[in-house]
Amino acid sequence: MSTLLELSGVSVSFDGFRAINNLSFQIGEPELRAIIGPNGAGKTTFMDIVTGKTRPDEGTVIWGEKSVSLLRMSESHIARAGIGRKFQKPTVFESQTVRENLAMALKNPRGPFDVLLYRKSAQGAARIEEIAAEVGLLDHLPRMAGELSHGQKQWLEIGMLLAQEPRLLLVDEPAAGMTPAEREHTTDLLKRLARKHAVVVVEHDMEFVRRLDCKVTVLHEGSVLAEGSLDHVVKNKEVIDVYLGR
Ligand code: ADP
Repeated sequence: MSTLLELSGVSVSFDGFRAINNLSFQIGEPELRAIIGPNGAGKTTFMDIVTGKTRPDEGTVIWGEKSVSLLRMSESHIARAGIGRKFQKPTVFESQTVRENLAMALKNPRGPFDVLLYRKSAQGAARIEEIAAEVGLLDHLPRMAGELSHGQKQWLEIGMLLAQEPRLLLVDEPAAGMTPAEREHTTDLLKRLARKHAVVVVEHDMEFVRRLDCKVTVLHEGSVLAEGSLDHVVKNKEVIDVYLGR
């Protein structure tokens, strides 16, 4: 596993309030990582920084083997460099089929002018089926996205991110609102994706984090409070104090 993303000494203030405070940590490739922490810990702001939505006041954010600074890149440039973000609520095109949703998300490797041709090509169709199989929606390709269950919409959106060929996937509370069977499918999917990609899951649900069985980073007041297996971090006295509000 090599380092894909490295934050060093990152700080962000909003109106004088330090939401992110000297935050340093690394994500490897491939890797599955869970980020946990109480409300206001800085989890969303961390994702905003990595995707270029929020610019830090201090620190560095370094990406890839060429060690490029994400701070010099626009949001769209960062997305093209291979960082995909999935927000909590699914945002699929409900009145389009699953196949059409995936076709829209497919990035054409040869540039924008060939995009329609590529999507209609045998290669494009094969890629759509490959992605649908990967997220468990192969049998649902002709269905309207609006008819899918909540869990299936989430998997479709993950599939749409995969179509962009990301190296890092940032996934916000993927299991929220899912049935037990959907949560199990999501656990398996994220674990499978993390064999090839860097997958960062921001999650509140400790049972779900336990099932992910991965390294956990605990954020508190914009810094890393503890890092390691879930069993390791839940024994940390500071983590216990933060979660019990002492
Ligand atoms: P989390 O996702 O862990 O709940 P956030 O990253 O959303 O935490 O927020 C961290 C802290 O920064 C919170 O105290 C929040 O109120 C504050 N914050 C986040 N975004 C803004 C903003 N745009 N303006 C002012 N304060 C903000």
